[in-house]
Amino acid sequence: MGRLEGQRAFLTAAGAGIGRATAIAMAKAGAHVIATDIQASSLEDLKDHGIAETKRLDVRDALAVNAIARDLDAIDILFNGAGFVHAGTILETSEKDWDFSFDLNVASMHRTISAFLPGMIDGPGGAIINVASVAGMKGIVNRYAYGATKAAVIGLTKSVAADFVGKGIRCNAICPGTVDTPSLGERISEQAQASSQTTDAVRAAFVGRQPMGRLGTADEVAAMAVYLATDDAQFITGAALPIDGGMTI
Ligand code: NAD
Repeated sequence: MGRLEGQRAFLTAAGAGIGRATAIAMAKAGAHVIATDIQASSLEDLKDHGIAETKRLDVRDALAVNAIARDLDAIDILFNGAGFVHAGTILETSEKDWDFSFDLNVASMHRTISAFLPGMIDGPGGAIINVASVAGMKGIVNRYAYGATKAAVIGLTKSVAADFVGKGIRCNAICPGTVDTPSLGERISEQAQASSQTTDAVRAAFVGRQPMGRLGTADEVAAMAVYLATDDAQFITGAALPIDGGMTI
């Protein structure tokens, strides 16, 4: 028996990176996985990895989030993976950048939790796992809006955990350090272009932030998400758990 046998898991941003690795790991653990992403094409091969259902979902679209929650049977696990990194200090962050970052990184989680929580409460309970970041736990250079959103994700996580601890709901946040995913590759290329450095030099600087001397992998983060979804983590709620190669020591 897999550790998530009989569980229904719903994931956002499951087409790439941490979300994709988590969808596959949860399916391997026996869950019925419903993987969603704004890019339908990124989900196409997931059925080959044991994913039961795939659906296009833009987490910025409140109507679509409500419709998908209404149309599905109740879930046991909600994984909120969607997030965007805005680069810059406060002086490079416009009102539009701020609003977009909060809409995609924070309001999206408000939407999915609001839509799915009533069904989870009516059932035997469940686990909500929100992807925050070490940027929500400590100041990181050039991550002004991003850090603010990820700190808000931690606050949102703790509030939901506190309000529903008596209803069988656990709500936790994962705080990754730098993880080797497609979006990190894009950030490295953009930063290299902007600073006239080589991509190797920029990548080395990212690695340099990690006391363990390497980047994390999406599979390592996925393993933590699977753990938080299982009964092994029954006593954990409201936690913001770093998985960061020592970045927050
Ligand atoms: P990624 O960019 O590799 O994948 C992100 C996925 O999100 C893509 O498939 C994309 O299509 C999807 N997406 C984008 N906008 C969407 C929307 N509006 N609705 C639904 N899906 C949308 O991402 P990643 O690096 O694995 O990051 C996943 C999460 O982990 C994010 O919340 C990110 O902030 C967080 N995180 C990442 C790192 C890192 O170093 N990679 C570190 C800490 C936290």
